[in-house]
Amino acid sequence: MPATTPPTGPTDAVTERAPRSVLVTGANRGIGRAIAQRFLASGDRVATIVRSGGAPDGVLEVRGDVRDTASVDAAFTEVEAAHGPVEVVVANAGVTRDGLLMRMTDEDFAEVLDVNLAGAFRVVRRASKGMIRSRRGRIVLISSVVGMYGSPGQVNYASSKAGLVGMARSITRELGGRGITANVVAPGFIDTDMTQALPDDRQQAYLGSIPVGRFGHADEVAAAVHFLASDDAAYVSGAVLPVDGGLGMGH
Ligand code: NAP
Repeated sequence: MPATTPPTGPTDAVTERAPRSVLVTGANRGIGRAIAQRFLASGDRVATIVRSGGAPDGVLEVRGDVRDTASVDAAFTEVEAAHGPVEVVVANAGVTRDGLLMRMTDEDFAEVLDVNLAGAFRVVRRASKGMIRSRRGRIVLISSVVGMYGSPGQVNYASSKAGLVGMARSITRELGGRGITANVVAPGFIDTDMTQALPDDRQQAYLGSIPVGRFGHADEVAAAVHFLASDDAAYVSGAVLPVDGGLGMGH
């Protein structure tokens, strides 16, 4: 019997590519840290804008605050000088200030919107300059299942995370023809400092409603971001990719 040649699949077509300049906000801990490590492991040049230190080894750490346009601009200038124009930007920095609607203060509402929504806007607006010039780019916004599903006590957070979907889709319509994609990753309950801060009963309630039956790992969110930033995802834009163990299905 003649030897058969194994069928060739898409993986055979994978070729070495040049390292990209990747910027992830808030890569000193949690999901942002895992995302930065994932890009580092695939050979990219990775930078982060952080308020406080502690980014993984090998990641260029630049101090900045996404609430401040001048700070974001200065951080980008520093990153571009070291790594070249940013080709992949991941807006990950986020905060919660939970409270019931009736008791939520203007400050708690404004602060969460300022970091999670306006912060992402400041970062992607700055990144878009270089992307438009080079006619390529990948924008990934880290939203949350809560943006579509809702959550009692998180009117501010859910509003900010839902807003990111409109942002990615508007960017897609504006810049889709220039080789730039903009997508949203919507994590569910991921085991990080943010979720460990929730009361035990709330954690158990979430666990009971997650079809996969466990909380997620930051690495699992990082894998989805990495895919959306890849050449393979060139035709995926304006999408919302849930990484939530089925928690938000249909929302
Ligand atoms: P985390 O552990 O609380 O980390 C938040 C990160 O954002 C930190 O690096 C923090 O910096 C940074 N950050 C906050 N405000 C900032 C500002 N004004 N300027 C610059 N950086 C700032 O949170 P996480 O769980 O990794 O969450 C990361 C993202 O995923 C957030 O957008 C979050 O909403 C989203 N998410 C998380 C979950 C989850 O289950 N964990 C689920 C859905 C979505 P500092 O260390 O200096 O405070």
